[in-house]
Amino acid sequence: MATDSTTEEIRRRADITEVVSQYVSLVPAGNGRMKACCPFHDEKTPSFYVSRDKGFYKCFGCGVSGDIYKFVQAMENTDFLGARKILGARYNVEVKSRAEMSPEQREKVSERDKLLKVTAAAAHFFREQFAGNLGLAARDYARIRGLSRETVEKFGIGYAPDNFNSLRGTLTRKYGFSDDEGIAVGVLIEKKSAEGELGGMFAEGAERRVYDRYRHRLMFPIWDESGRVIAFGGRALEGAQQENPDSNYVPAKYINSPESPLFHKSNVLFAWHLARAEVSKRDGVIITEGYMDAIALHEGGFPQTVATLGTAVTAQHVALLRRLSPKAVYLCFDGDSAGMKAALRTAPLFAENALDVRVVRLPIGHDPDTFIRENGESGMQSALDEAIPLARYRLVSILDAHDLESVEGRAEAMRQSAEIINDLASETERSGYVSFLVDELLKIEKPGNRTAWERRRSDLERLVKNELRADEGRAGQKERLRDAKIGDGRLAPTRQKSFSSPKWEAIRLEEEKAANDLHEATQSISESSIVAPGVLKAEKCLIAAMLSFPTWRGHILERLPLAKWTHETHGEIVIAARKYGAEEEITPVDFSENLSEDAQKVVGDVMLSDEAGNSPDAAIIDDWIARVEMHWARQTEIEMLELVNGKIGRGETVSDGEKAAFVSALEATRRKMPVPEK
Ligand SMILES: [Zn+2]
Repeated sequence: MATDSTTEEIRRRADITEVVSQYVSLVPAGNGRMKACCPFHDEKTPSFYVSRDKGFYKCFGCGVSGDIYKFVQAMENTDFLGARKILGARYNVEVKSRAEMSPEQREKVSERDKLLKVTAAAAHFFREQFAGNLGLAARDYARIRGLSRETVEKFGIGYAPDNFNSLRGTLTRKYGFSDDEGIAVGVLIEKKSAEGELGGMFAEGAERRVYDRYRHRLMFPIWDESGRVIAFGGRALEGAQQENPDSNYVPAKYINSPESPLFHKSNVLFAWHLARAEVSKRDGVIITEGYMDAIALHEGGFPQTVATLGTAVTAQHVALLRRLSPKAVYLCFDGDSAGMKAALRTAPLFAENALDVRVVRLPIGHDPDTFIRENGESGMQSALDEAIPLARYRLVSILDAHDLESVEGRAEAMRQSAEIINDLASETERSGYVSFLVDELLKIEKPGNRTAWERRRSDLERLVKNELRADEGRAGQKERLRDAKIGDGRLAPTRQKSFSSPKWEAIRLEEEKAANDLHEATQSISESSIVAPGVLKAEKCLIAAMLSFPTWRGHILERLPLAKWTHETHGEIVIAARKYGAEEEITPVDFSENLSEDAQKVVGDVMLSDEAGNSPDAAIIDDWIARVEMHWARQTEIEMLELVNGKIGRGETVSDGEKAAFVSALEATRRKMPVPEK
């Protein structure tokens, strides 16, 4: 929990909703919370919530959570120090050296530094191999692909030899890195196969079966935004000699490094550090789908090019692009590619960020690499000049994809078009595209004379506008459904603002039902340990109060000792909460640091719940405690009932003491049930 003063000072000054809204558009979600479509997973209705008071965010869709530092690290693809520097600059806090960091932070940073040394060493090794005796095939291939010496230098292109142990041998023997470090950054693989499958392939370390991931491949380093190597892409070369130990192995044409502590492909754009200085000098930024395309464009005179690495354009990519304030973003994808389809889905993100996105249309059968080699710089420039706005491209694609002569085809095309137009950020754009859509439809319908044309135009305009309103309604409906789903069963945000009576009524009914089921429960001992959902919910409410309001913590911990919490995970949180002083504020991220994953999830859930936002009064707290205590009273009751029923069943006498205990157990649960008589 010890954090240095700079880190804390930034945290004090920074408003997390302001930090997050630099990257995604937040809308109010009640109780001081804001929400947005999650930047970490693909969604159309917001499940990403940010709490200003708690300095905390959480996505109920994919589960990510964290504080300002974690968010900026993810969005800017940087480490803790990098995030702190960015935030320090934004909030005018002077950021000094790493000496100011807590030991945990220092450890994380030095871990990253160490891994960066491994990737740097690997990059150096691959370059050496490319230039050396073994690199002949790689150099030949580079020549055939038309990669100049300058390009090979600029992109640090290398060669991974046709050998299972050459990089590994170098990393361990020459640099003293461990296998685990090589595995962590993805240049080495640990084979998890049955004993003996690999035979005597490995002279050393045979028991662990660690070997080079990349063999007989042209190697492309992938950098972070400061130009440090964080991962690799490898392109297969013809004629590999070494047989793979895995008999099912078919060499993939391209292999990228797996996700690692250094590399998250969804927030990396290939060649970003090379391109970013060029973007302002040129008319925008070009995105291609792979590094070969990006390299070809750089070589062909378009150094403002970046590439995605086998993913769709993500929100993080959009955030990176937005920082450049490009005049335009050119999507230079193969028209039928998965990348283009995915880019179409990302379109609302572009619109939200007010980026002018254009689609470069290349002739069928061409990719950017082949196109620029055939048509040169001027051909490529014309293709850029003729690129069409993304929304227009989407509308045309939809009209093309549907049979507009059929009622169903036309209705579906209109529905999809309305969604696209409603995604647009500005009213001007929306009305512009209404006209565009009407014109396109008129072109298809070709009404006879001028009068018919005019009449049809106003009909179509009305139809399109009706469709837009219908789409808005559908979008609202989806959002409401989503909210309802989040509210179900989890202590997640709902539209309810406080402890309203319907909510409590629901919990009471749940409890009542559990009580009514009691008789059945007694028939089976195994079921007697089931905890009613209302009890678990009460415990979560208590956790929310404990973590959010130091004043209530002592009271709750005292009234409800550890043994009374019915859920193991809740117990874990109670143990952690006990370590805090009476008045000490709890910050969710620090608090969660050493908790199990389950416990982290519960903390994340409750911290954004309504209960964490409103200070409860004593009566509510005591009511929650009573619910948990009632659970235990019922447990006693069940045990007594079993004891008494068992004795009666076996024809034994129930003693007066046992009768009295049973009656008092029943009284404890305030239920009127006749004592079974013999
Ligand atoms: Zn998410």
